[in-house]
Amino acid sequence: MPPTFKHNFTAGPFQGTSTFSTGLFINNEFQDGEGQKTIDVFNPSTEKVIAQIAEASAADVDRAVQAAQKAFETSWGLTVPGNERGKLMMKLADLIERDIDEIAAIESLDNGKAFSVSKNFDVTQAAAVIRYYAGWADKVHGNVIEVNEQQLAYTRHEPIGVVGQIIPWNFPLYMFSWKVGPALATGNTIVLKPSEFTSLSALRVCALIVEAGFPPGVVNVVPGYGKIAGKAISTHMGIEKVAFTGSTVVGQEIMRDAASTNLKKVTLELGGKSPSIVFDDADIEQAVRWAAYGVFFNHGQTCCAGSRIFVQESIYDKFLEGFTKRVKSLQVGDPFHPETFQGPQVSQLQYDRVMGYIEHGKKEGATLHLGGERHGTEGYFIQPTIFTDVTADMKICREEIFGPVGVVKTFKDEHGRQIWIVIFAIFFISGADIIHQANDTFYGLAAAIFSSNISRALKTAHELKAGTVWINCVNQLHASVPFGGFKQSGFGRELGEYALDNYTNIKTVNVNLSRDSPI
Ligand code: NAD
Repeated sequence: MPPTFKHNFTAGPFQGTSTFSTGLFINNEFQDGEGQKTIDVFNPSTEKVIAQIAEASAADVDRAVQAAQKAFETSWGLTVPGNERGKLMMKLADLIERDIDEIAAIESLDNGKAFSVSKNFDVTQAAAVIRYYAGWADKVHGNVIEVNEQQLAYTRHEPIGVVGQIIPWNFPLYMFSWKVGPALATGNTIVLKPSEFTSLSALRVCALIVEAGFPPGVVNVVPGYGKIAGKAISTHMGIEKVAFTGSTVVGQEIMRDAASTNLKKVTLELGGKSPSIVFDDADIEQAVRWAAYGVFFNHGQTCCAGSRIFVQESIYDKFLEGFTKRVKSLQVGDPFHPETFQGPQVSQLQYDRVMGYIEHGKKEGATLHLGGERHGTEGYFIQPTIFTDVTADMKICREEIFGPVGVVKTFKDEHGRQIWIVIFAIFFISGADIIHQANDTFYGLAAAIFSSNISRALKTAHELKAGTVWINCVNQLHASVPFGGFKQSGFGRELGEYALDNYTNIKTVNVNLSRDSPI
């Protein structure tokens, strides 16, 4: 018998027992993994084991791929019209909304995020993304190209086949929706691996996939470890495309695996070290609020977290005073308490990593301006932390911390005070330069600009090397708006119409209308 999840929720809008299977989801059935291996699920607020999920082996992944291949040939792919696929996806979005309180409670228990965030952001947005792509399902088509009087060509945007999808733990169900939405709309079948830390919400939604009426094998979910189940996906010869969201290091490994096996197509959504830039003409009160949201939303476990805050010199003191006050007011604690903004980090591993960065910051000589300690006595809670007096070469300024830790720095103006001193025909440049500082990272996922001067904001936006630039806001994600990285933050775009391109093969059909041949 595959393992099950059973929990009695006593706080929040969902009160009662939630029970569902946590086996591997293959062919619309919950199954044991090979050797009935399981993985413990921890509640990050208490550090206690709350359930087990099945652990997929390479052989289990292979079974899932076979199920997906059969479904692609017989009951999905090109055999089912787009509007039929769209109807099932709409139904799935409706069912997620029907069960939103329970799913959000599961997400908060498993990941530690505040229930209000799970409900109003993660699960609400997951349903919105699936519904958005349901609308695309009958609108994916090619072009007609009239080459000349004798020749006509047209393109078809065909599904790729079985696609592999590997997702992280920071937005478990929301990332699930980013992946399955465009893949299903374009007619692919799926083998998806959630993070070993947070598989519960995806497995709960698998029951809704059956209820919605999806044919067996269209969506298969194989929880397991990255080095086993994840690797089995990225190296499988029957999978022709792999979409990955996670760390840059693992993204590089997935590319190598794809290259050394069947050259499967790869899209990568990776890490970031995003700048929030506050100009002297910004509405400071609003900039303070947004900047705090930018770095501390989701406990800092956000790929686009604005973890490097650059403030123009003349308003630095005023900004820092307001920012400190604001950050002190953020409530850390039980995810089910209605006032909670920040819950625990997801795991002991992440807790240790983040605390390690804080220690590094102190050792490297940065000023620990606020926080830096464990919050409470149990659970993986960390106080919201701010460093000042940070230099560009410090680890806390260069590496993605993926926790509630931000650095605040100053800048002079857009292009700095560039003093060119000619000494023996050598040019020296001195002075700060916000474009240089903001772009001084090997990541390029996102950036935020705060200014009341739209020309200045747009000019800066165009000079930043980032896939998304927010002006007078941060962390705004919409189903219809593409998202993805420059540089080592990855490639390929998720969300919006752009994501559909990741999941189709373009076939050209060239027709000779004349009776002539070249020889
Ligand atoms: P991770 O890279 O450790 O793991 C991500 C997923 O990959 C997990 O499911 C894991 O099991 C799997 N995996 C691990 N090793 C693997 C391997 N060798 N082969 C195949 N799969 C493997 O990342 P994480 O710690 O889960 O998530 C945090 C990272 O994800 C951060 O760097 C963050 O920036 C990034 N992230 C990026 C985005 C984005 O949209 N750009 C969104 C969320 C998270």
